[in-house]
Amino acid sequence: MRAKKLKKLRLSALDTMTDEQLFDTRFCDLPLRVEGSPLKHRLSQLYKELESRGLRFKPHVWLSKEWFTPDRIPGFAIPFYLAHPRLVRLERKQMLEVEGGTEKECLQIMRHETGHTIDNAFQLHSRPRYRELFGSFAHRYPDWYKPEPHSRDYVLHLPAWYAQAHPAEDFAETFAVWLVTGSRWKRQYEKWPALKKLEYVDQIMKALAGKNPLTRSRQRFEDLPEIMMTLREHYRLKRRHYAFHWTADYDHGLQRIFSSEPRYTQRLSAVTFLRHHRRELCQEVAEGTGVHTYAIHQMLMPMISRCRELKLRLSLTEAHTKQKLLVLLTVQTMNGVRSGYHRIAI
Ligand SMILES: [Zn+2]
Repeated sequence: MRAKKLKKLRLSALDTMTDEQLFDTRFCDLPLRVEGSPLKHRLSQLYKELESRGLRFKPHVWLSKEWFTPDRIPGFAIPFYLAHPRLVRLERKQMLEVEGGTEKECLQIMRHETGHTIDNAFQLHSRPRYRELFGSFAHRYPDWYKPEPHSRDYVLHLPAWYAQAHPAEDFAETFAVWLVTGSRWKRQYEKWPALKKLEYVDQIMKALAGKNPLTRSRQRFEDLPEIMMTLREHYRLKRRHYAFHWTADYDHGLQRIFSSEPRYTQRLSAVTFLRHHRRELCQEVAEGTGVHTYAIHQMLMPMISRCRELKLRLSLTEAHTKQKLLVLLTVQTMNGVRSGYHRIAI
């Protein structure tokens, strides 16, 4: 009975649905399309960039749970929430950030995915020079990777040094940097070993101008109408996936910022202070490290509990406390990254 009612869901109904009603909805019942959504304009922009480089190839797109490009397919999936502002709000509430939420970020990810699709469309990864520069495409995909933040062998584009995750990601990131209109990659990467990769992409793309792709498949994977899962189950799994899994030791760090000495009993408790500044602290560390805000939030929550157990209170000025906390959180986040940070492959 419910399934029948949900099938009639209209696009305009999404605006007035509560979070609970949305959680009970299955992906296949969401009345979403790329056409007529804010994504349409972003996609046109991407196609214009490709045309301006003389490339005839245009990836096909569809809506799914997350960003991804399936193996061998010259098209990519876009997360459902980007097709409607109500679902962008739900994503932000659940995950504390929206991957591709702004036009700029959305285009960055679209260029990255286009790198994968053009690789698939022309089977670029089978070329010897590709393998020499980026490594083997067949290399097993890691569950996590340990980036070297100072490496100059890779371009910097998506957060968290994503080019270092896999040879295919390295190629996609290099392509994305090359594609941007007015990109100053030659100057920006001058003296970086990564310049060789950019020059190779430039050379290949010039040769592919006006050419038709080797594969014209319009196949889709995990297309929205095929997904029977509810949004509730999706968010439960997604939140579990993003959390850090490492044993942190931060008592000493907290005790250098806060104090349990009797002379500070009149001062604000560390718990109150952290709760009040939680959002901005997480956002600042996420921006500085490229790690998902949700992961940082998950790391901060046990710290707040520990402050309660240790009965810590402010001992410095608020500004000084915040500054020291940013350093502590950044160090802890980078330790988390080094011990293996789990991101969804995009
Ligand atoms: Zn990718």
